[in-house]
Amino acid sequence: MTIISTWEISFQGVKIARDILKEGKSVEDAICGLINDIELNPDFHNVGYSGWPNEEGDVELDAAIMDGDTLSFGAVASMRNIKTPVSVARLLVGRPYDNFIVGDGALQFALENGFKSEELLTEPAKARWLQKIHDMTDLDKGHDTVGSVIASGGRVVAATSTSGLFMKRKGRVGDSPLVGPGLYADSEIGGATATGVGEDIMKGTLSFQIVNLMKSGMSPSEAAGKAVKDLHENLIRKNQKPRDFSVVCVNKEGEWGAASNRDEFPFVVCTGDEVEYYVSKDFGKVYEKRKNQYDI
Ligand code: ASP
Repeated sequence: MTIISTWEISFQGVKIARDILKEGKSVEDAICGLINDIELNPDFHNVGYSGWPNEEGDVELDAAIMDGDTLSFGAVASMRNIKTPVSVARLLVGRPYDNFIVGDGALQFALENGFKSEELLTEPAKARWLQKIHDMTDLDKGHDTVGSVIASGGRVVAATSTSGLFMKRKGRVGDSPLVGPGLYADSEIGGATATGVGEDIMKGTLSFQIVNLMKSGMSPSEAAGKAVKDLHENLIRKNQKPRDFSVVCVNKEGEWGAASNRDEFPFVVCTGDEVEYYVSKDFGKVYEKRKNQYDI
């Protein structure tokens, strides 16, 4: 069993996923358990309930899940008022159509399936929004999508959940719910997921690219490093200024990798009992083990 997930906010969620798998439940139960833990935490402002709002002060959420056995996926985008969007996305997997629904349609689908409509904007998020509307300079700040991949029992599943970029334009959707850039899983190869500025991640179809590199024989760490570096350098060649992007991935054997074009990118891994917190440096060439503040 290997579970890998972005950012230090995943620490408790990875423990939850590990325990769900140990109880013999499905990989989908485990990955949604991991992500629901973050979605429902009012202190984590980039995902689910208490997410950062868009420029109009509304929280619009994106999420997706992909089943590597069938390549089926479910995705929602710009969905309001539902605390756990990844669980809504899960219900869309395997349907012949309607795998990706957005906005009011996504909310309607969630309500029809027993989810409760709730206010997502909390006081701290609202206070930051009110302050920010006077100073609209750094749209990129406050983005930390949870993206997770699990390889267990011959299956690979990937999933994401995010409130997207803080102060994004109403209706803006990033990479996170998109199969290809934001996540990809194929149980014959492995899975990958990305976090960072979605507009750049989409330019490189980053998660699919990593799975393809693993298919060609690269280890997950080589594939993650190469995909991130290639996109970063390609953007520079094209006179673009690359923004932050980071990835985690696992192959079907359970070997894992991570890479980023940031100085440091934190992520969480579990390959058995212990849940470990690492920081990736130098385009995934160095993984430094650290102590995690959420290890309680
Ligand atoms: N990728 C997300 C987006 O562009 C944000 C993030 O990962 O932090 O919406």
